[in-house]
Amino acid sequence: MRPHDLPPPLPLHPPRHLRGPSGRCRHQGHALQGRRRREERHLACSDGGGAAEDGVPALLRGGLKAILDYGSEDAEEDDSCDRNLKGFLDMVEMVASPAVPESSVSFACVKVTAICPIALLERVSDLLRWEKKDPSFRLPWKSHSMPLLSQSSPLYQTPSMPNPLTAPEEQDLRSALHRLSTLCKRCAEINLPILIDAEYTSVQPAIDYFTYSAASEFNRGDDPIIFGTIQAYLRDAKERLVQAADAAEGEGLSFGFKLVRGAYMSRETELASSLGVASPIHRCIQDTHACYDDCASFMLEKVLSGSGSLVLATHNLESGKAAAGKAEELGIGKRNRKLQFSQLMGMADGLSLGLRNAGFQVSKYLPFGPVDQVIPYLLRRAEENRGLLSASSHDKELIRKELRRRMKTAVLGRAY
Ligand SMILES: Cc1cc2nc3c(=O)[nH]c(=O)nc-3n(C[C@H](O)[C@H](O)[C@H](O)COP(=O)(O)OP(=O)(O)OC[C@H]3O[C@@H](n4cnc5c(N)ncnc54)[C@H](O)[C@@H]3O)c2cc1C
Repeated sequence: MRPHDLPPPLPLHPPRHLRGPSGRCRHQGHALQGRRRREERHLACSDGGGAAEDGVPALLRGGLKAILDYGSEDAEEDDSCDRNLKGFLDMVEMVASPAVPESSVSFACVKVTAICPIALLERVSDLLRWEKKDPSFRLPWKSHSMPLLSQSSPLYQTPSMPNPLTAPEEQDLRSALHRLSTLCKRCAEINLPILIDAEYTSVQPAIDYFTYSAASEFNRGDDPIIFGTIQAYLRDAKERLVQAADAAEGEGLSFGFKLVRGAYMSRETELASSLGVASPIHRCIQDTHACYDDCASFMLEKVLSGSGSLVLATHNLESGKAAAGKAEELGIGKRNRKLQFSQLMGMADGLSLGLRNAGFQVSKYLPFGPVDQVIPYLLRRAEENRGLLSASSHDKELIRKELRRRMKTAVLGRAY
């Protein structure tokens, strides 16, 4: 199948191999079952029918892999950061255990907002923005990093010179960097790459600082362990991506990026308008689409040359098709592990299966964690992604087609 033929008909229910007699995902006696009792309270519903423990092998049978997304909320203080780190490490140990089929999990996913207090991320971001405004401004705690902000990055969130970090703040920053390094070290040991999520711009410079610190330490082999995230809805996205890629190449590091459009549009727009400045987001969705495809093209060239790795995280059919077509045109092998596609579990299944059928590597984001923690986490993500959670017009059209086909079958007794 050629990528241009994407996607196959949308399954209105899980495909046959994922279904039990009730039509819901089945709880088979797979390798993880022995662990079920112990882990039960620790696993989130992944698809409305099964739990994450069922989800991983079920995805594998369907030719897809899982990205484990530990469902932790933003941390306010050190204690919750330590608890969240333990949760991340437990998740990694589960992946490392012989009970999980080898290579069924393609990535772990981490939110820096869960392992560093938000207020500190805001302070560090402020200081990094001021350093961008005034390069003579000294940040004694800052180690060598790839470029974090570009000429076109908006700096309006830091209108005046921030106070330096206090000694306890510096200590907290060291502890938070150490948490990320501990997690990355364990992931590197078991060769499980990490995707670091992108958040809103008030904390993103600090998150990129964490990401690039970890990348300098762990991306020394051919394949990166640490992947940052670029949000194409930001007007400075391409410039920051190119700067970071150039810097990594200059230092002989491998680099990886997850490319998304961005989930915090209303938050960014409201903040900018409350300050009376232009929004950091592209003026219209067409510009965001163009930026996404442009960043994807740039990274595909890096995949081809071998220095970069790319996860295209999107539900957008046109972007999926364009990237798959460009990869084919460049001659990037579909089994090349430096190119991956990803969608959220239960969303855009037509695109996921179409890409998989075309031979590409596709993973689904699978929420993971204690149920009492993951439910609020999912509700918050749902709130942030209201637009995204309403089915795309393409998915709606496929659903309509399938309903029409079934009604005809019911009335006329045969399928068309
Ligand atoms: C696997 C995966 C991982 C993700 N990780 C992250 C992450 O780490 N950080 C994060 O922020 N998001 C993340 N997201 C969410 C992502 O950023 C998008 O919100 C979501 O995927 C919708 O975009 P789309 O490419 O799928 O498709 P589409 O539905 O085509 O795009 C919708 C997106 O376009 C943008 N947009 C809409 N209207 C306008 C407008 N008027 N002007 C400019 N832009 C506009 C918005 O970003 C909106 O979300 C992730 C998504 C997936 C699938």
